[in-house]
Amino acid sequence: TRTPVNVTVTGAAGQIGYALLFRIASGQLLGPDTPIRLRLLEIPQAVKAAEGTAMELDDCAFPLLSGIDISDDASVAFDGCNVALLVGARPRTKGMERGDLLEANGGIFGPQGKAINDHAADDVRVLVVGNPANTNALIAQRHAPDVPAERFTAMTRLDHNRALSQLAKKTGVAVSEIRRLTIWGNHSATQYPDVFHAEVAGKNAAEAVNDEQWLADTFIPTVAKRGAAIIEARGASSAASAANAAVDHVHTWVHGTAEGDWTSAGVVSDGSYGVPEGLISSFPVTAKDGRFEIVQGLEINEFSRGRIDASVQELVDERTAVTELGLI
Ligand code: NDP
Repeated sequence: TRTPVNVTVTGAAGQIGYALLFRIASGQLLGPDTPIRLRLLEIPQAVKAAEGTAMELDDCAFPLLSGIDISDDASVAFDGCNVALLVGARPRTKGMERGDLLEANGGIFGPQGKAINDHAADDVRVLVVGNPANTNALIAQRHAPDVPAERFTAMTRLDHNRALSQLAKKTGVAVSEIRRLTIWGNHSATQYPDVFHAEVAGKNAAEAVNDEQWLADTFIPTVAKRGAAIIEARGASSAASAANAAVDHVHTWVHGTAEGDWTSAGVVSDGSYGVPEGLISSFPVTAKDGRFEIVQGLEINEFSRGRIDASVQELVDERTAVTELGLI
């Protein structure tokens, strides 16, 4: 039997955590042959709720789940951690300034980065889901100087999946027939879902759609504002789809992308496509042998250029803000 992989989930008692933990424990994150030990991190007042979720996990009798530990101490929760899913974050509340939000999250993601640096396993892989995800990932990464920077990633897979679904509807094909879609930039309203290199049933997607106005006025805003539309309809923010995207992100990272296809992830920029080095920005990425790689050499048209630059500028501004706050 294989040694269990330690999967740490922060904010485990939250909505996304509730949708995520059962998927992980059932084997959907790392595959049907990999036993898992769950390490749940929560703030002290939410530990009891996490214990309740752990009781339900026990009651599923998942064959792959070899144990569950719950802690409010990051150095315990990240001890030996192989995969870290950083879901818990300080949500923006009414009247809160952007600086306050960044500061509150700096207080969470800085210490978590340090705990990962000091206690996680050598092969640790980190996915940040909690918002503002890209900048939270940057803060954590900067507090983990001994961990290769490329192991810190931010989630844009939900945006990617939303874009796949919208494009499939528009063109009348199955999502499985769409390849090479890209989300660029920040996981925020400025993100840019790019269909110009995508293929729909083997045809160029922009040509298949043949409607630039639909792209600009319907597709892009629908994808970018989907989170708000779900809150409006459901009365609560998206949770199961966010959890699903987190599972997809890690599964792809570990198991790879299909030949000829790519996905989207927030990864540390190497300067590609004019994105300043060191920013954690969404790119088209392939995954192979447990590593993401930015797809190189794509031609960026004028329509795309302005949108990518605007979203990247927002990331630059967030980095400046957290630098000025002394958070990185
Ligand atoms: P959720 O589980 O709904 O969301 C968690 C985070 O994921 C939020 O930052 C949320 O951002 C973000 N997120 C990213 N993408 C999406 C998406 N597509 N849809 C919805 N959310 C998305 O939050 P809850 O409040 O239910 O739970 C948070 C838990 O985290 C609580 O149990 C709290 O105690 C815990 N927590 C733990 C910490 C720790 O372990 N140290 C620190 C802080 C909190 P957004 O706010 O923008 O929706």
